[in-house]
Amino acid sequence: MWSNLLLSSPAEPIIEIRYSQPESRLPNNYIEYPITVFAMKCRKCGAKASVNMRQHRLALCKEHYLEWVPEQTERFIKKYQMFDRGDKILVAISGGKDSLSLWDILVRLGYQADGLYIGLGIDGGINYSSESHRLTEKFANENNLKLHVVDVENEYGQPIPMLSEISHRGHGKPCAVCGLTKRHVMNRIARDLGYDVLATGHNLDDEAAVLFGNTLQWSSEFLLRQGPVLPSTEGLARKVKPLCRFYEREMTAYALLRGIEYIYEECPFAEGSTSIYYKELLNKLETDRPGSKLTFYLRFLEARQRGDLFAEKDIRQANLHPCPNCGQPTSAQGLCSFCRLMEKAEGVATISRSAL
Ligand code: SF4
Ligand code: ZN
Repeated sequence: MWSNLLLSSPAEPIIEIRYSQPESRLPNNYIEYPITVFAMKCRKCGAKASVNMRQHRLALCKEHYLEWVPEQTERFIKKYQMFDRGDKILVAISGGKDSLSLWDILVRLGYQADGLYIGLGIDGGINYSSESHRLTEKFANENNLKLHVVDVENEYGQPIPMLSEISHRGHGKPCAVCGLTKRHVMNRIARDLGYDVLATGHNLDDEAAVLFGNTLQWSSEFLLRQGPVLPSTEGLARKVKPLCRFYEREMTAYALLRGIEYIYEECPFAEGSTSIYYKELLNKLETDRPGSKLTFYLRFLEARQRGDLFAEKDIRQANLHPCPNCGQPTSAQGLCSFCRLMEKAEGVATISRSAL
């Protein structure tokens, strides 16, 4: 399966990423180059495009892509009223491309954003936690940013896999315990250190997969809560997802073009998860129908905002009246749609009869 992400650097021809699964799970060498493809031009300056976004019908060069992403992020922050420049923001950093890119973008946009890294104590044969911690520290040091680090084992006595085993939760997978612990720690640090907002790097692929899962189950409670902003409640900071409208591939392109070093591997416990399966399904859909993932998510947000996600529409309120010709109920002015169709067809038939 081919993605529509094209990347290039001044020294190389356009390169193309192929994928059939979420990109975060692809090893770095999955980017193949050089592959010469049709020359696309940047919409803004006409130079050779580095990124082509079929779903937006937009191709941009490296420079303009690196401007476009923060501009769009700013637009989403304002549109969903996430925060303003006076707010103190805590960004949850995993060491992956999304959270590091989010931190980078917020700082570039001039927001007061500090990072929070939670050491989960997961090795999985790839030094997952220590490597993601190293890359997060590296990013913070290189950019002179403030990073809070909470090591679960140091603070709570056991790393995540052990906490999970001890608690017998999650049927051999520590994800339930991990999610619970991360939420607890994020909320605690935000509250104790006086942050107004907690920002996470969830992208469109993450949000669409969660939405898909909630829709399959018709989990109305979760559906009514899902969105770019979760308002603050007693003792809990507001939670926001400024990247929720970016495709995962768009964030991969941002991190690569911006030269952000991030951990390519996902947590080893993510293997075989339902959310990855949903992402794969949605990627298949997206390949055949570019833009469907975004439409799926945006139409949901619009319906939620209108407040009619689960509202029963009162048909009587739809101003129905009987069609003056056939008597069937219609909301159209005058004749119903069917009678208008027949009227047209009759007119066409009359004209063609008279032409004989
Ligand atoms: Fe935690 Fe890994 Fe599960 Fe994610 S996949 S919830 S990081 S254990
Ligand atoms: Zn350009």
